Amino acid sequence: MVCLRLPDGKVTTDDSEMRQHAVDFYSSLYKAEDCDSMCTEQLLHGLPKLGPEQRVALDADITLQELSTAVMQLSTGRAPGIDGLPSEFYKHFWGSIGEDFYEVMCESFHEGSLPVSCQRAVLSLLPKKGDLALIKNWRPVALLCAEYKIVSKCLSNRLKEYLGLLIHKDQSYCVPDRSIVDNLFLIRDVLDICKLSDVNVGLLSLDQEKAFDRVDHQYLFKIMKAFGFGDVFLSWVNLLYAGASCMVKVGGGLSCPIPVKRGIRQGCPISGQLYSLAIEPMLCFLRAKLTGFFVPGVTKGPTIALSAYADDVIVFITGGEDVKVLSNALKVYEGASSAKVNWGKSEALWAGQLQMGSTPRLPGGLQWGRDGMKTLGVFLGSDVFQKKNWEGVVEKVCARLSRWKWVLPQLSYRGRVLVANNLAASTLWHRLMILQPPKGLIQELQRTLVNFFWSGQHWIKAAALYLPLHEGGQGLVDISSRITAFRLQAAQRLLYRDCSSWVETAYILMRRAGCLGFDKHLFLLKLEGGDLTGLTPFYESVMQAWRVFVSSRQAGMPPGMWLFEEPLFHNTAIQSRVLGSASLRSCLLGVGCTKLGHLMRSRSRLEELGERAGIRSSRLLRKVVDEVCDSLPVLHLQSVTDTSNSDRWKEGLDYVFPALIVSAAMGAFEEDVGTLLSFDTPGLGEFKEVGKKAMYRICVKVSHASSLEGVKSTRWADVLGPGASPKGCWRSLYKLPIDKRTADLQWRIIHGAIANNMHLVHLDPTVGEGCPFCAESETLAHLFLLCPRLVGMIELITDWFSMLGEVFSSQLYIFGPKYRFSQKGVVVLLNFVLGAVKLAIWKTRKNSIRGQGSVDVVGMLDPIKSI
Ligand SMILES: [Zn+2]
Repeated sequence: MVCLRLPDGKVTTDDSEMRQHAVDFYSSLYKAEDCDSMCTEQLLHGLPKLGPEQRVALDADITLQELSTAVMQLSTGRAPGIDGLPSEFYKHFWGSIGEDFYEVMCESFHEGSLPVSCQRAVLSLLPKKGDLALIKNWRPVALLCAEYKIVSKCLSNRLKEYLGLLIHKDQSYCVPDRSIVDNLFLIRDVLDICKLSDVNVGLLSLDQEKAFDRVDHQYLFKIMKAFGFGDVFLSWVNLLYAGASCMVKVGGGLSCPIPVKRGIRQGCPISGQLYSLAIEPMLCFLRAKLTGFFVPGVTKGPTIALSAYADDVIVFITGGEDVKVLSNALKVYEGASSAKVNWGKSEALWAGQLQMGSTPRLPGGLQWGRDGMKTLGVFLGSDVFQKKNWEGVVEKVCARLSRWKWVLPQLSYRGRVLVANNLAASTLWHRLMILQPPKGLIQELQRTLVNFFWSGQHWIKAAALYLPLHEGGQGLVDISSRITAFRLQAAQRLLYRDCSSWVETAYILMRRAGCLGFDKHLFLLKLEGGDLTGLTPFYESVMQAWRVFVSSRQAGMPPGMWLFEEPLFHNTAIQSRVLGSASLRSCLLGVGCTKLGHLMRSRSRLEELGERAGIRSSRLLRKVVDEVCDSLPVLHLQSVTDTSNSDRWKEGLDYVFPALIVSAAMGAFEEDVGTLLSFDTPGLGEFKEVGKKAMYRICVKVSHASSLEGVKSTRWADVLGPGASPKGCWRSLYKLPIDKRTADLQWRIIHGAIANNMHLVHLDPTVGEGCPFCAESETLAHLFLLCPRLVGMIELITDWFSMLGEVFSSQLYIFGPKYRFSQKGVVVLLNFVLGAVKLAIWKTRKNSIRGQGSVDVVGMLDPIKSI
């Protein structure tokens, strides 16, 4: 911060004037305002409440174990608080100080106050947007003591067990199992529904002024009481906030302490959860009174009133009445908690069909937009508007990469991958999770990343680079596989976490597929057979991603109501030759007979079904029923033919979804020890449980299988014999203390990515294919293994190896040791020595060609000999 504008308009650069201004500003911000208790009363009605058992669990004494867990969870590498002790200190010495610390905390609790250092935060100011001479355009981040964070983290761990019970699913901030993606999925899908059907709805995005900083402490405690929190837990939270003060860091010094009577400290581990609690009463109030978004004609549809991510609240408005309700709710909330809505910065989007002059009037002069809105970092709206998400993306990635241009020649492959994966590509993930990118964009970005990696000649296929390090690749990110993995994660949530806020709107969109009326059950269809037209681009991409797997039902699934939901067509679990007829299927589809349950209900009146569907032969339908029944396991058959079950079945109720076992969709792929690509890992299994990383790795392998088909795992098989394989050795290659660029050399040798003369002569015939040291041709094998000049060196390392209990072999020499955890020390040492040897060979060759420097390989290894 170089200067600040004072209230009188004068701009100052004087440290003490700036500091005084900061103190005035934050004193007034953190001063409690009078809150209207009548307003608070109104908000406290109808809140969900903790049960007695939950209250008791939250109120139990804090244990040493809980504190220890919290210490280990603290993030490291953060600036320490006022006592200067970073969290690393506590992690390191916890064994010695843990018990004492625990006692101090218990005592503080009984006395009702924490040590002063604990209560005092240092506000460090980070620039936001706008005129930086105005202090309001700086974001205060509280640097808190590690002690404080330990207690706060500990309480946060307790609270998160119960937060999902108190906070409605439409708020996703800091609630376990929910994320910002939930909000964005919901809004995207609502807008898509509006594009497809005649829905009248507007989205109003509220901007709250300094939302976190304005939460009044008294209000917070009142609502927590109303949520049913017990006295002990409240006292702990009170301990964190009572007597809190902060000192602002301006102009290189700290200000005097400023009392903090309101505001939730960003940087404190429990703050996010407290904020979600603080705003919940207002959201609750709104939910009860707003009409809510619903889809006409969809009986089992959701009614959604709002979507919230912390203070980013979007309210669904269907008419003028909703605007009144909203204004009123905000007035009450502002009175109760001292929050403040900034209409000037709020945004409105009318997503429904436009009937001129009929859109409700908005407060504060706010106008309805028509194209779209940027929400939570993503542009959502019309197709044209959504293009904004991808404008300048390639340029931005290129600009980020070009900053590394000067160090690139010195940067190891590991370093390049780190830059490409983390600095360049990661800016895209957020939007790619939500939307399908335009065609061609991803290919272009991917090319950019691969070019950056090689920065010159491309030695091996790009697809091989995407494999993980321990399978011979470099772990360079493959953007399109990441997208596929994101889609599969969305599928996981759709099938097995149906408590997310967006699943019901998703179902509405999915039921359009092929006019089948299936939602989750689309995942049970053999896709080659099914026509899925009608899906939105996003869900089309989800179903496309699903093709990475072949799935089968978990054997022995007990019968249940889910059976009635089984699709009648294109379903591996239900077979009928007669249903193979497309015309019969379309007749049944026409009368909505698409699920096993539909057929079973009509079993006793097949003639009636035939009449409705225009199928004259009821014998044909009888045959369908028989065939379908025959294909079911006995237990399942008994269950679906029991009429008391079929009477209970209610279509559209959420029944358990069958567990699916997945494997890579690779057909007749045969594992071969000599090729790079292998499906041995990662292990898959039940779809519900497949982790993010495994998902991504399978996507990489399946989508590049044809490009990697037949690619050998090494260029050395001809020399070392057909059984020789570097499998298992890749894992040792980069283990410290080997220098990363030396490891790169070894990696290149195994892949044959080395410019030897036999290689160079193809590019430039004047080079000559001969070895610089002897008369033979310089092949890869000659260069590193067979040249007579290497005999002495090989004798030397044979001795070294035997000292380590290893026998020298060409294979061990070229591939390095297979990784064994139990002998990690030996493995690492062998790898280190081999790296040094190969580097010496490479350097002396260079020296010989340049005609200067040492050409004595054994001599170059002297420093190692002395160890
Ligand atoms: Zn030679």
